[in-house]
Formats: sequence, C-alpha cells, structure tokens
Amino acid sequence: MSKFTRRDFLRTAGVAGAALAVPGAMRGAMFGATEQSSAGGAAQARGARKRVIVVGAGLAGLVAARELVKNGHEVTILEAQLRPGGRVLTLRSEFSDGLYAEAGAARILSTHDLTIRYARELNLKLVPFYPSSGQFVFQVAGQNVAGPLGGPSQWPVALTAEERRLGRGGMWKRYVFDVAKELGNPAEAGWSPSKFAEYDKVTFVQFLRQRGASAGAIRVMLLGSDFDGASALRILSDIAVNGDVTGEFKIDGGNDRLPRALAAPLSSRIRYGAALESVEQDRRGVRARFLQGNLTHTVEGDRLICTIPFPVLRRVEFTPQLPDEKFYAIQNTYYLSATRVIFQERRRYFAARGRNGFALADWPVEVWQPSFDQPGERALLSGYMTGEMARRVAGLPEDRRLQSVLNEMETLLPGARENFEGGYSKTWDDDFWARGAAQWFRPGQMTDYWAHMATPAGRVHFGGEHTSPWPGWMQGAIHSGLRTAREVEEAGT
Ligand SMILES: Cc1cc2nc3c(=O)[nH]c(=O)nc-3n(C[C@H](O)[C@H](O)[C@H](O)COP(=O)(O)OP(=O)(O)OC[C@H]3O[C@@H](n4cnc5c(N)ncnc54)[C@H](O)[C@@H]3O)c2cc1C
Repeated sequence: MSKFTRRDFLRTAGVAGAALAVPGAMRGAMFGATEQSSAGGAAQARGARKRVIVVGAGLAGLVAARELVKNGHEVTILEAQLRPGGRVLTLRSEFSDGLYAEAGAARILSTHDLTIRYARELNLKLVPFYPSSGQFVFQVAGQNVAGPLGGPSQWPVALTAEERRLGRGGMWKRYVFDVAKELGNPAEAGWSPSKFAEYDKVTFVQFLRQRGASAGAIRVMLLGSDFDGASALRILSDIAVNGDVTGEFKIDGGNDRLPRALAAPLSSRIRYGAALESVEQDRRGVRARFLQGNLTHTVEGDRLICTIPFPVLRRVEFTPQLPDEKFYAIQNTYYLSATRVIFQERRRYFAARGRNGFALADWPVEVWQPSFDQPGERALLSGYMTGEMARRVAGLPEDRRLQSVLNEMETLLPGARENFEGGYSKTWDDDFWARGAAQWFRPGQMTDYWAHMATPAGRVHFGGEHTSPWPGWMQGAIHSGLRTAREVEEAGT
C-alpha cells in the first residue's frame, strides 16, 4: 500500500464544486500569472484619464476598479446587490455565538498567488482550511471508514490489485495528473484548448473509464462530487493551472473580508442596488442603463468592464449586438450547480468519537466543520453538494432541504439530528445575480468558447472568473480584474 500523505489529500480531496482541489504538479504554472498581473498592479498612469464603468462589485470588478482608480481614472461601479463580494459570501447573522461559515468561495490554494497577495496587502490573515487533528470520515457504498486527511488505507469497494496498492492519491496520479501535465500552462499567453480537443469530447467520468479506472476506483476518486458532466478538458486544465498545491487556506474571520476590504476605499464610487439592463456603444463612448429601485438611470463612460456571470448577462441587451461568437459563449456556457446546507449543532459531539466534523461521501457530498477553529461549544456542519445532488436538494422547500440533508449527515456523523438547532441553505442556481456557482464547460464547450470568453467587444471588456484561466476560483476573478484594467489602460479613449 503506497503511503497516502496529507499533501496527496490536498491534491485529491473531493471537488469543492466551483473550486476543484485536485491539482497537478506544475508549480511553474503560476509564474505566468504573476508576471501578467504585476502589469495591472503598478500604479502608473499610462493612458489618458478615462471614464470607466465597472459592472459588478465581486472580486473581479473590485480589483479592476482598484487598479484603475490608482492610475487616476474616473470609475463608477454598478452593483445590483447591497453588498460587495458576489459569490464570496460569508454567513454570520444566520448563526449564534459569532459563528460564521462560507456559502460561496471557501478554499484558497497555496498556488493562488494573486488571492494570497491581495489578502496580505489588505492585512488579512490566512489560516489552514483543514484541522490538523481528529479523524475524517469517508463514506463509500454506505460504509464509513475513518482516517487521516489522506484517507484510509483500505476502501470498502472492489478495486484492482494495482488500485489497492496505489491508494486514492496514486490513482489520481496514475489516471489524471500524468495526463494533466501534457497540457502545459493554461495561463500562458497563446495556450489553446484546441490542441487537446480529444479530452473535450468526453466527460471527466468517461475519461476516467477510458484511462482504465475501475468502477470502484472512480467511486473513490470522485468522493464529494459527481463533476456535473464536466468536460474532461475542463478538469484537466484546472489541475494544470493550479500547479503543485501544498496547502489550502481561508481568511481568518471569513473570506468576505477580502471583497469588503477592497470595497471600503471605493465606497463613494459604488452604486449599490444598481442592476445593469442594457449597454449601448458607438464611436463616442459607452452608455449603461441600469435600474435602481424603480427608476432607470444612465451612466456614460469611455470604457465599460462587465464582470457579471454569463447566465445573468443573458438578461442584458447590447446595442449594437455582440459578435456572434461572444453571443453564443454567453448564451451556452454551462454553470455548475451548487447547494450548501449548513447546520448549527448544540455541541461538537463528534469530537468524543475522535472525529473532526469533516467528511467525504459518494452520494456525493463534502462535509466541513468551518467552526473547528472558532471559539465556543457549538459547531457548524456544512454540507456541500454539486451537480445533480445540488439540484435535487435545491428542488425541495427549505425545511425539507434541511431535513433530508440532516438525515444523510446523521449517517456520516451520528448525533447530527440530536444536536441540531437550526440551519441555512444556499442554492446558487436560484441566486438571481449568479444563476450557478461558476463556469463549468460541458463536453465540446471549451474548444468552442474558450477563445471568446474574454475578448472585448468595442468599448466593452469582459472580466469575471469565467473569463480567466482559473474559472471557479477567486484567483481567476482577481486575474481577470487585473487583465481588464490593463486592457482599459492600454485602449484609446
Ligand atoms: C459554491 C461556491 C464555491 C466556491 N468555492 C470556491 C473556493 O473554494 N475557492 C475559490 O477561490 N473560489 C471559489 N468559488 C468561486 C469564487 O467565489 C468566484 O470565482 C469569484 O468570487 C467570482 O468573482 P467574480 O467577480 O468573477 O463574480 P461575482 O462574485 O459573481 O461578482 C459579480 C457581481 O456582479 C453583480 N451583478 C450581477 N448581475 C448584475 C447586474 N445586472 N447589474 C449589476 N451588478 C450585477 C453580482 O451581484 C456580483 O456582486 C466558489 C463559488 C461558489 C458559488
């Protein structure tokens, strides 16, 4: 049996839905990003002062605005909601005793240099995402096995002799990482998915079968998520771009402290409750029409940066119409379904049995105990579902959602029902301003749309995680914010 280390686990822990934690081993992948991003970070006024409209106060919009303001441009931010952060959403008021949990972005990978850089710049402390003590629970085919972060040494499913010897980390390496290495660095200029089109013809699960993984191996490898029909190329490029991950972190006090810290100095430039409805551009400039309350307003600028997720952008009208390729990418790009159900438990009852409140199961679900490093007796248990399971749970009324997941949680961490005090669920498909968790190409989509996600259309520039080499990650949103700021900087008025 090969040794299954903590580091192996970090590479192979189930899917975080929007955020895959199955990276490959190409540390060099990050250097391109750092070089590209530093250009946007420098506070040097290069072009003439421009009036820039930024749509969306998520990380992409906030970072773009921050860089442009630093460079002396006149920036107006339109944000439909009353808070910054978009899909970075920390839940606080829902729980007692000051406990908090993430409804959206949760993990920061050690290779996410941009996220880490901004957190440091804003004096935010990064702390480990996983506890270093207690046992993790792994549920496969209805059977629980407890073990360290890296997983147990024996799995209760049929595996080939080689798979048994390889263990979970070894299976990921053998069937996936070795192929991901062939892809090179998707963040490098000129990288194109067309060279790897064969991997875009199949789902990730079909790819695993083609690679020779047994049914049992696929079950063990996919603990936590069904990958929601993702194209194999989407997953392989994610692994390639994330590089050699050696740890996972979160922001002490909640991840929303990052967008809030970015938004604070921009406050007077943000128009909250302002929902973009249409964009019109011509030789002279660009006009954004937005609804605030029941009043329609128009703001004019030289350039517009649009960071809103594509499913939401489908509701926005463009005059003249966007180029066909862009239009089809916006219309068709698939977004991952994700639902998070978070329970408040009276006590950290599972600790008595040596469990730390983290688990992976093949229903599929990933369970975290975000309270493990927060003070007090009470616990928060967060169940993270993606794909079909997320949609099934989302289809239930709130009280039934909680009950049905609680019943399943009981099988993983017995005592959940008895200690249950209440809970909260967040389903991203139903979020009017996101309509899904993150860009998630289905087979064929990556080769069709990759080249058109980020391309500007006249005076309109497109940012957001979905336009970056790190889709589904805060790193991608930030990278796109820097890129769009640079595009605007370099464009004419
Ligand atoms: C369930 C889940 C899990 C995740 N896990 C992780 C993780 O572990 N690690 C990680 O790094 N990332 C994770 N992510 C991804 C991360 O949250 C995103 O990549 C990132 O926050 C996206 O930022 P953005 O600025 O591109 O988009 P958004 O955050 O969506 O920002 C867009 C903004 O535009 C606004 N908007 C929308 N429509 C309009 C309109 N018409 N007019 C005006 N404003 C509008 C929205 O309100 C929003 O504020 C996760 C996301 C989800 C949902």
